[in-house]
This record gives sequence, structure tokens and C-alpha cells, in this order.
Amino acid sequence: MAKQLQCDVLVIGAGPAGSRAAMRVASEGLDVILVDSKPRIGERPHCGEFVPYQLFSEFTLNKNSIVHRINSLETRIVHNKSELEFKTNSVQSNGFLIDRPKFDRNLAVEAVASGALVMSSSSFAGFTDQGCVLKSVGDEIMVKAKYIIAADGAHSSVRKKLGLFTDDCTVGFQLEAPIVDPSGPSAIVFLDRDFFGGYGWLFPKGATANVGVGLLPSNGLTPAAALSDFTGMLIRTGLIKPGWIARTSGFIPGFGMRFPLIVENILFCGDAAGLAHPITGAGIAQAVFSGDIAGEFVAKAVTTRTSSIINKYQDILLGRYGGVYEHALSKKKVQLESWGNRDFAEVCGQTWISFKGYKKRERNF
Ligand SMILES: Cc1cc2nc3c(=O)[nH]c(=O)nc-3n(C[C@H](O)[C@H](O)[C@H](O)COP(=O)(O)OP(=O)(O)OC[C@H]3O[C@@H](n4cnc5c(N)ncnc54)[C@H](O)[C@@H]3O)c2cc1C
Repeated sequence: MAKQLQCDVLVIGAGPAGSRAAMRVASEGLDVILVDSKPRIGERPHCGEFVPYQLFSEFTLNKNSIVHRINSLETRIVHNKSELEFKTNSVQSNGFLIDRPKFDRNLAVEAVASGALVMSSSSFAGFTDQGCVLKSVGDEIMVKAKYIIAADGAHSSVRKKLGLFTDDCTVGFQLEAPIVDPSGPSAIVFLDRDFFGGYGWLFPKGATANVGVGLLPSNGLTPAAALSDFTGMLIRTGLIKPGWIARTSGFIPGFGMRFPLIVENILFCGDAAGLAHPITGAGIAQAVFSGDIAGEFVAKAVTTRTSSIINKYQDILLGRYGGVYEHALSKKKVQLESWGNRDFAEVCGQTWISFKGYKKRERNF
């Protein structure tokens, strides 16, 4: 017979969203179980590790995960790859490159310090009338919880078990490469017609840089071929050296918030809720924010025994991201419709966040 556990809140997934949520609930003195299928929380990350500067001022986060300061973001539209011709623009950008495993681990440690029970190597496997089924190091565990926070990433198995979609994803392939001039480049984004609905990035972090490509699945280049094409171009441009220290890949929800964000007593957070930005794919800050708010309102619902309080979670997310994402999605629509059949630099000027044209509203959306 399966082992039985009871708690106020079960949090599934110990990425930034889940660990932050678990910390918020546990710090109210409630019983929280935080589970993650990985044997070691935070590893291996699928991430460019670029976060906005404000993340560390909005939330009290351990700063020991910061590895590099980013002051500007250069955008290069690839005009002629073989001749290495680019149209370049540069804007101020306040951000940090973080050590993502350390960042995620710090958040999980804060959850533990607040009183959450954290279990790695433990995967959510499904729902029964008795509660949630977990597979944990060969054992089956049944968890009965008043509320569930689903923070299990872009391909959320909680969503899938509820029959909700997760097929809206961009694919990201990345490697950590040695950099030619560690004091040299700013963060650079490469917009290339070959990277359908996405872009390439070079995010420096001292002696190495995260270089990657995110794109929508299409009949064009595969993500692996796009990464190889991209790194070849960076080597020829003199930005990185051959070889790599780490490789990683993953999925990013590409089309904004996934509704509903709440199903009965289950709240979706972070990538499971589709909170990555539809144009840039950045989602760490949104994961922390959504985890924080989900934790706050679930804790209120438990302590006041008022389940309707959790609806505030969706209201707050809509208030913060609703308009911004609606605008981003209008740009994405233009981007995808005109990717291959208009002047590419013009499309980028209208749809990429660093250009003035991005601010202009799209009609008929
Ligand atoms: C290649 C790539 C580069 C990126 N670069 C950046 C960047 O530079 N900046 C940025 O802001 N964002 C970036 N992102 C997006 C960012 O990584 C995500 O938005 C962020 O990780 C979302 O956090 P999360 O907590 O919602 O989900 P995740 O970090 O994905 O965490 C989900 C957790 O759930 C666990 N899990 C999954 N299924 C189960 C299950 N069944 N049972 C138990 N646990 C489970 C997973 O093991 C994982 O630990 C990138 C994404 C990719 C793929």
C-alpha cells in the first residue's frame, strides 16, 4: 500500500516559482511539501541565466548567485551571414548573469529554512480520489493536500493530467563557450531569419558566455543545427572560441499566459502558467513573482478557510502582465505572419523589444 502524507499545500516543482511559493506558505506556519523530480534541485539548468536587475531589489534574494553585471544589450540583425554583415543597435540594459543552479538552490534552501518539507527525486504522477500520487525513489506516496501549487515547468505534467495544453512551446538549445575577450562584449541578441520566431543570444559571464538559440519548431533548421550554425558564426566573428563547457536544452512557453491559471484547488505558476515573455522568452522573474503571490494567497485561503481568496492570484497576475503580454502577442502575430515574406530588418524593427517600433500599438489586434 502507498505511503500516505497530509499537508496544507503540496508544491510540485522546485524551480524559482515552486520554491518561492513553498517559502511563502511555510513562513505562515503551514504544512508544506515541495517535491521535484530532479535528484539535485537546480541541476541541470536549461537557462541563459540573464535576469533583470530589479529582481534582486523587488525580492530579498541571496545575492551570491550573481556572477556578472550587464549594462547594455546589443541587437544585431543578421543581414549576410557569410560576409558577417549586421545591422546593430545598442540600448542600456540593467541585468545580471546568475549562476542558475545556485539561484534555484538558494530558493529551495529558503523554503526548507521556513519549514517546508522538501523532497527531490519525487515526481508527481497523477491524481486519484485519495489525492496526488508521487513516485519517490521507487516508492509510491499518496499526498492529500488542501491546495496544490503546480510549478512544474513548461511541459507541466499537472496540466497534462488535467487535459490542458502544453504544446505552445519554443525550443531552446544552448552551450557555455569560452569567450575571446572576457572584458569585451555586452549581452548580444542576434535576429536571424533562420531562427524562426526566436533569436540567438550571447550572454557573457566572465571567461565564458552562454550562447544559445531559441526558435519555434518549423520545417526550417532544427534547433541543434541552428545552434551549430550560430556558434560557427560567433567563432568567425571573433566573439567565442571553439569548444564548450556545458550543453543544455529546454522548452519555453511561447504564447503568453495559459488560462485557466486556477483549476479548483490547483494554482499554476511560472512556466506552467505560461508566464515567460512571448517575445524574449525570459521567465525567471515572472516565476519568482507568481510563486510569491500564489504562496501568499494560498496561505490566506488556508488560514481564513476562505477558498475564494485564491482568485486574487489571477487578478494580480493579470494586472501585472495582462497588458504587457497582450502587446507582446500582437507583435508576435506580426512577427510570425511576416517572418519570411517582408524585409527582415523592417519586421525586426517593428517587433523586437529594443527597437522604437516595438512600442507602437498594432491595429486590428
Ligand atoms: C534554453 C533556455 C534559456 C532560457 N534563458 C532564460 C534567461 O536567460 N532568462 C530568463 O528569465 N528566463 C530564461 N529561460 C526561461 C526560464 O528558464 C524559465 O522561465 C524559468 O525556469 C521558469 O521557472 P519555473 O519555476 O516556472 O519552472 P522551471 O524552472 O522549469 O522548474 C520546474 C521544476 O519542476 C520540476 N518538475 C517537472 N515535472 C515534474 C513532476 N512531474 N514532478 C515533480 N517535479 C517536476 C522540474 O524538475 C523543475 O525543477 C530560458 C529557458 C530556456 C529553455
